[in-house]
Amino acid sequence: MTWLRHLRWKLFVSHVLTIVVGVVVLLLTAHFLAGTPLVQEAPLTLGAAASEADQVAPLLSGPNLNQSVRFQAVVDQSLLIAAFAALTTATFISLFVSRRVVEPLQELTAISRRLAHGYYHERTHLQSDDELADLSRSINQLAAALEQTEHRRLALLADVTHELRTPLTTIEGYMEGLIDGVILPHERTFALVQHEAVRLKRLIEELALLSRAEAGELSITPRPHEICQTINHVAEQFHPLFAAQQITLCLDLPNDLPQIYADPDRLEQILINLLSNALRYTPDSGGVAITARPLDYYVQISVADSGIGIAPEHLPHIFERFYRVDKSRNRRSGGTGIGLTISRHLVYAQGGEIWVESAGPDKGATFHITVPICEPSPVV
Ligand code: ADP
Repeated sequence: MTWLRHLRWKLFVSHVLTIVVGVVVLLLTAHFLAGTPLVQEAPLTLGAAASEADQVAPLLSGPNLNQSVRFQAVVDQSLLIAAFAALTTATFISLFVSRRVVEPLQELTAISRRLAHGYYHERTHLQSDDELADLSRSINQLAAALEQTEHRRLALLADVTHELRTPLTTIEGYMEGLIDGVILPHERTFALVQHEAVRLKRLIEELALLSRAEAGELSITPRPHEICQTINHVAEQFHPLFAAQQITLCLDLPNDLPQIYADPDRLEQILINLLSNALRYTPDSGGVAITARPLDYYVQISVADSGIGIAPEHLPHIFERFYRVDKSRNRRSGGTGIGLTISRHLVYAQGGEIWVESAGPDKGATFHITVPICEPSPVV
């Protein structure tokens, strides 16, 4: 009975079954009850004095019996004609309904199969306003989301390949030059090769971190702690680097800042990224300031620099993966374009926000993050 698995046949059989049951019930009812009215009418015409057997006997013989048999034959015939008409109608209705239901379902099945095989540009074009149209719209939305994800995956693959190839090509070129004797084994040459190797290693580490962040697998262990401690600790690490470029690093941290509820290591990671960028994009003799202030249920930390700034058209994209305002400049200065994306993941994972402000090129940039404060302890 494999054919019964098809919706088309199920519809047809259910229609036929309904009709058959209806006809059988009508036939049986007619057989059992058709004569009864005549019998029931008898006492009214015959009077109360006669016995029951005496009353029924004349009714079941002679002209009355013929009338009853004829009546039943007419009922049977009518029912058979009605059954035939109903069956014919059921066949046409089944065909019509199955065209309206089964064919769109077949189309939707075909589209989902093609989507499953990676043809994400496929869309359904059902023209109706019923539940099937809703299903069709949902499938189209799913296809669009899959297509977008696929585009992002391909873009990431292209970006990663490109980023990895650049330092590798440099290292390969230097090594070939050294082997061929075209480049002299000078200390500076080895330093350059090492620099590229370090960059490659950093890129791979950042990519691993990014993939964990995007998969939502970053381990974050928030706990109550003093934000000033973390900021001071990071600032200490950066002081010598800023001093080397004659960039002043100022801290403005109020004493009465509330305790925050965040992962100190992850917070440090975010601050290191923001300060590295400030250092990278601020020319010598510039200035960088770190400030913190309470803001409702958060503490807002800002890192402002007097550096090269960011043009308004770049601001909305600055946290996108591999986004760099000036690729050549960043390549020279070693930027990967992943740092801010990771920072954003880390901030979001801790329930905070991150955003940037800049008045434009050469007007500096300010990065803000918020981190939640500890819940005030309930009053006992
Ligand atoms: P990168 O490693 O390239 O710095 P990020 O994700 O940290 O990667 O930054 C993305 C881009 O944002 C940078 O390439 C740079 O163009 C821009 N940017 C980040 N910080 C600053 C800043 N302080 N001043 C100006 N531009 C910045």
